[in-house]
Amino acid sequence: MSRFHSSVSRRDFMKALGITGAGIGTAAVASATFNDIDGMITSGAAPKRPWWVKEADKATVEYDWSQIERFDARKVMNSPMGPPQWVSTEEWARVQKIAADNQADWIKAGKPGYTLRDHALYKGAMGGEGSPGVTNYSWLGPQKSPTPEKLGTTPWQGTPEENTAMLRTALRFFGAADIGILELDENVRKLVYTYPRVAPYKRYEFEEVDKGYEDDEKWVIPSKKKLYVVTIISQSSIDGYTTTPSWMQRAASDNTVRLNAGILAATQEFLRTLGYQAMAGHERNALGPAPAFAALSGLGELCRNTQVLTPDYGLMIRAVRLITDLPLAPTKPIDAGIWRFCHDCAKCSEACVSQAIPHDKEPSWDVPGGWNNPGKKVWYVNGVKCQSTREMLTRDCGLCMTACVYTKKDYAGIHNIVKSTISTTGLFNGFFKNMDDQFGYGTEFGPDHNPLQGDFNEGAEDFWVKNMPQFGVNSMIGLKNR
Ligand code: SF4
Ligand code: SF4
Repeated sequence: MSRFHSSVSRRDFMKALGITGAGIGTAAVASATFNDIDGMITSGAAPKRPWWVKEADKATVEYDWSQIERFDARKVMNSPMGPPQWVSTEEWARVQKIAADNQADWIKAGKPGYTLRDHALYKGAMGGEGSPGVTNYSWLGPQKSPTPEKLGTTPWQGTPEENTAMLRTALRFFGAADIGILELDENVRKLVYTYPRVAPYKRYEFEEVDKGYEDDEKWVIPSKKKLYVVTIISQSSIDGYTTTPSWMQRAASDNTVRLNAGILAATQEFLRTLGYQAMAGHERNALGPAPAFAALSGLGELCRNTQVLTPDYGLMIRAVRLITDLPLAPTKPIDAGIWRFCHDCAKCSEACVSQAIPHDKEPSWDVPGGWNNPGKKVWYVNGVKCQSTREMLTRDCGLCMTACVYTKKDYAGIHNIVKSTISTTGLFNGFFKNMDDQFGYGTEFGPDHNPLQGDFNEGAEDFWVKNMPQFGVNSMIGLKNR
């Protein structure tokens, strides 16, 4: 049975925290921000973000644009072209053989999390990735909707702020959780890959033209226009993730990938009818690294496992991005204390089956292998260890995401107290991490307890008797603080 969900009351929480009146006084002195717990939850709610999420001029992670160059995504370990560059042919054949054997054996034996119906859910969630009408990503979109010219009118006009609000409303309506906006300036251009992760391996090119296009060799981004990158995040199901290691966890991820493909196509048609361009990639991880775009546009902060960790949704998101010439207002990076908290936490490292996430207190500028793009001071994940383990677990793992202190069902307000405290002072960081362990959050699986050692998640099949919310997520998260 998963031990993920909290039935901890506010009173229990405060007792565990050991801060009654005097303790809160300590926090208040440290922060000079809140007077009582209810105040911590509700005061100063900004129109767009919880009050404890502050805008910043720079992302909280240290990075150096002078060290960052456009990266060839064919080098990453989850590219079909990645493993042959970093792992011997024999070793990768060994990993693939284990993966194939595990898949067949676990289905036949009906192992929890790996039954035929669990596998079917994963395959269904993928929607036959790339299938026309289901996940048909494309550079310029379906291009079926009318342009303003065809409708006998002129393109939509609004201020950048109005356009951004309009786009956010449309995207939420299409199913997204939130969007972040970056101007595609000289630095941000460096985040656009040279080549994509998966075929077709056409080059991303900037050209002095007005309109984006594609041919057999390249996807062209028009340099003559002022352009913006819109990063779109959508929620994944915690109920799916907490069954991990399992195919339901992968289904939870792919369900969002399928949704995002539809959102991208819908947004491309929306922008086309408004009279603007929208260039997206041809697959889920196209254009450039999602964590970088998302962190720089304030959707979250980079975190220890080098993903973007959001204040509202934790790590339960998948991101896609598109480039448009609709004038937009860039959104600023944020500081919610997340990056600082990761220095004292490392719960994801402890849960990592392959020990691919560093345990060190401090991040580093040193990259462990050519599958990483340098130029940032982070805890670089060992992609070879991670991807090999994901393969052997027959496609995915997700333990780091499930273990994260921020990945919670967030109904009770308890976690808002924790998150708001973290944003204000680092004094309690170690305590909150320990408290998270003691309340039994996250996952009990890890390097010494996982299906590769014969330990399966006996609670995984409870997924099938849950009173599943629509799409498996709470769509009100992120709104209650706004
Ligand atoms: S997905 Fe699994 S193996 Fe990879 S970093 Fe996360 S916990 Fe480790
Ligand atoms: S588990 Fe802890 S260290 Fe890892 S990403 Fe989450 S907050 Fe950061």
